[in-house]
Amino acid sequence: MKKILPNLNNKLPLSDAHHNKMIQLLDTLKETTHLKPDEFLYILDHITQVEKEYLFSLAKATKNTYYQNRVYLRALIEISNYCKQGCKYCGINHTIETVERYRLSKTDILKTCETAYLLGYRTFVIQGGEDAYYTDELLVDLIHIIKHIYPDTRITLSLGERPKASLQKLFDAGVDRYLLRHETASKRLYEHIHPAFMSFEHRRQVLTNLKEIGYQVGAGFMVGLPTQTNKDLVKDLDYLKDLSPHMIGIGPYLCHSQTELAGNQSGSLDETLVMVALTRLILPKALLPATTALGTLHNTGREQALNAGANVMMPNVSPTENRKQYEIYQNKICTGDTSLECRGCIETRIKAFDHEIDLGVGDFYDLERTKNDR
Ligand code: SAH
Repeated sequence: MKKILPNLNNKLPLSDAHHNKMIQLLDTLKETTHLKPDEFLYILDHITQVEKEYLFSLAKATKNTYYQNRVYLRALIEISNYCKQGCKYCGINHTIETVERYRLSKTDILKTCETAYLLGYRTFVIQGGEDAYYTDELLVDLIHIIKHIYPDTRITLSLGERPKASLQKLFDAGVDRYLLRHETASKRLYEHIHPAFMSFEHRRQVLTNLKEIGYQVGAGFMVGLPTQTNKDLVKDLDYLKDLSPHMIGIGPYLCHSQTELAGNQSGSLDETLVMVALTRLILPKALLPATTALGTLHNTGREQALNAGANVMMPNVSPTENRKQYEIYQNKICTGDTSLECRGCIETRIKAFDHEIDLGVGDFYDLERTKNDR
């Protein structure tokens, strides 16, 4: 039996044929986790507001099957805004001269981990620009210390593209997860938003390497990038389905006025939520953050993402004095707050949207059921 949703679009009468096709596609996606590229494209090109609500409800139901209304929290430590890369959208790329650069020492990072641990966080996400200061030796030592002091935690690194041998060393030292967004699965678009010395193929190779080594891997992309089309977004869904990462970060592109891409429009809340929901349906067990970029775009952007299938939040625990300097995009939320304030604020927000915080290590669904603490 076909489900017909109410037609709330009072301007143009919706064709029943269109509406039925859309609902049928969304139902099929929920049941099978698959659609063909032209079917995804149909959804992106034609979905109406009412149908978006329906999509979000399906994505939320799928999330609930595996993770219920729990939201895993990850403590985000931004360790350095030095970066050798030249991503044209990013406010801390090496060409931008107005940025006041900083980096945290091993001792600073350990202090931040302590604060995070005392606030209840059990995953430390160590993120930064591509900064040669963080050698394998330094990181291996840091990881050993963190795992020795806090054996009941997980370490996630997000330090950009490193050689496979380096990633292997860090994994062997005890790193559990690695976040490296693919940024876009369209080669044309990737090359439009990166300088010529950066390689689309190389970034994807690093993601494959991470999987081969055995990391819990995070990929992801931005929505609303300059010149991005719905066809490009379909490529993101196809790529993700193929790669099957454990974590997927999806956020709106936020235009930074000091970058080469200044003057472009930022991505939209709605389009980003649609991509979060579709991603939940193709990879039902994925860990999907409600990203800080969504919270920056809209006051309740992250909470709305929870209602569209997201199940992770990454409160900032970086030292307050450095937060403004890690300006990958402008007006980033929480840059004037302390870690304690962020902890309270996040919990209140999550509860207000009928979710609850989960302070466990929050591994990928299948691993949580098979793996003991390392
Ligand atoms: N150096 C690391 C971490 C990058 S920052 C790496 O290369 O993986 C984390 C993510 O922020 C990036 O992967 C990118 O998707 C996102 N980002 C950067 N600048 C942005 C902007 N202007 N708007 C929205 N997201 C941005």
